Amino acid sequence: MPEVAAQQDRLKRFLSDEYGLNENHISALRILKRSIDARQRTIFVNLKVRVYIDEQPTDDAYQHTDYPDVSQRPQVIVVGAGPGGLFAALRLIELGLRPIVLERGKDVHERKKDLAAISRTQQVDGESNYCFGEGGAGAYSDGKLYTRSKKRGNTEKILNVFCQHGASTAILADAHPHIGTDRLPQVIENMRHTIINSGGEVHFQTRMTRLIVAGDRVVGCEAAGQEFLGPVILATGHSARDVYRYLASARIEMEAKGIAVGVRLEHPSALIDQIQYHRREGRGRWLPAAEYAFVTQVDGRGVYSFCMCPGGFVIPAATGPEQIVVNGMSPASRGTQWSNSGMVVEIRPEDLGAAADSPLRMLAFQEQLERDCWQQGNRQQTAPAQRMADFVNGRLSADLPRSSYAPGLIASPLHFWLPRPVASRLQQGFRQFGRQAHGFLTNEAVMIAVETRTSSPVRIVRDNATLQHVRLQGLFPCGEGAGYAGGIVSAGVDGERCAEMCAEYLKA
Ligand SMILES: Cc1cc2nc3c(=O)[nH]c(=O)nc-3n(C[C@H](O)[C@H](O)[C@H](O)COP(=O)(O)OP(=O)(O)OC[C@H]3O[C@@H](n4cnc5c(N)ncnc54)[C@H](O)[C@@H]3O)c2cc1C
Repeated sequence: MPEVAAQQDRLKRFLSDEYGLNENHISALRILKRSIDARQRTIFVNLKVRVYIDEQPTDDAYQHTDYPDVSQRPQVIVVGAGPGGLFAALRLIELGLRPIVLERGKDVHERKKDLAAISRTQQVDGESNYCFGEGGAGAYSDGKLYTRSKKRGNTEKILNVFCQHGASTAILADAHPHIGTDRLPQVIENMRHTIINSGGEVHFQTRMTRLIVAGDRVVGCEAAGQEFLGPVILATGHSARDVYRYLASARIEMEAKGIAVGVRLEHPSALIDQIQYHRREGRGRWLPAAEYAFVTQVDGRGVYSFCMCPGGFVIPAATGPEQIVVNGMSPASRGTQWSNSGMVVEIRPEDLGAAADSPLRMLAFQEQLERDCWQQGNRQQTAPAQRMADFVNGRLSADLPRSSYAPGLIASPLHFWLPRPVASRLQQGFRQFGRQAHGFLTNEAVMIAVETRTSSPVRIVRDNATLQHVRLQGLFPCGEGAGYAGGIVSAGVDGERCAEMCAEYLKA
């Protein structure tokens, strides 16, 4: 029962009754695994618990990693301080190499002021926003830490490193762990302290503008008017369009990659709780805000929910002028009145026709959609929006519900101006999701345009074995921006792998 699982004293009593233990001798409990089974009206919380009888745990609840002094060791340049770059830097230290981290944005606390200014001024700072700055795109997010990656060991290492830097050890137990936007910045700052205390460097407001190439080798890069020498781990994320354009102009091999685009869909969280927990009273006091995941195929393309944020906010995630991009985040408590998710449709490079054969063609499509959205949204960060059932029925919404999106919403016929293959697949997908979950397709939900940054529109092609660029040695395209990760944990895993391969490269 949820109320037993959530309270230590009730859990102790339950365990002593169930297993014939003397409750007074249970000195500590450690929850090793926790998941919620809400498929039926009776909700079960499944726990795996370690019970300590007349003794206290002697070890940390996480696995500790040692970070030696690397101040005199060979240096490696890490471009980007998102999860890909930060985990690469930490792993380099473990391997005895000195990371020099270059980040275009500000430190994670300074950055917060620029995020607040977006709603106040309707302007986006092109160097400091929800995608750029220390911690990368995931710093102000839900901090969901689950991944479809099958490599459990690698994933657990990432979670343990997060715990060592201040994340709750609950993330090691939860089936769907998340840290929360209110907790992540401190964890990220602690990671920076580890890098600097071990002899590495972190430079903010230092944008990489050029790679330094000697023959077929990358030997460093230029950033903020300075040269930084060493092999380069390039972890600049999916929104660094200037980086993609520079690489294209330098004829560094890349290819167009499929993406998914659509909207953020926001429901009252109480409604999602009622639907997912199958009861009128919703989640009650002991259950977390409910999650959902939908997926279907319409006309040969995937339509699915993405990056669900229960009890969260919809946020303005553009990275420059004349764009609207929305995304979602949640605090650790997941306690707001709203639950949102991206609702997106898969788009493949071949869907754009043969006309544009450039590696940047998906990026151009993404950019155009964001510009169209900005034009529909009053040329500000005010986002075009439509009630969900109105969208499905092709009707303009006469008014809009209250929303968590701080810059404000404007009623707009999304069914009319979203690209036809996206709008019609979303309409069909929503009908199907409404049949699967009674009450989900409703005018109480609002669609907010436009969600485009679900993954990288470009792949910077690398060799599978060495993780170096296919032509240029000493260049390690890394993380989501390189097209080899999607999400905080997988970017972290990729960062670690790039660091390991970079260490091999330096040994050779
Ligand atoms: C609002 C939001 C919520 C999200 N929520 C989640 C979630 O809950 N769970 C999850 O798994 N994923 C989430 N994601 C996705 C996740 O954040 C990314 O998959 C992940 O951050 C990718 O890591 P990365 O290091 O590859 O790239 P990024 O995190 O994008 O980091 C790239 C970094 O490089 C810097 N940079 C770019 N260009 C340059 C340059 N020229 N010079 C120097 N620095 C540069 C950028 O400023 C940035 O800090 C969310 C994304 C957003 C935007």
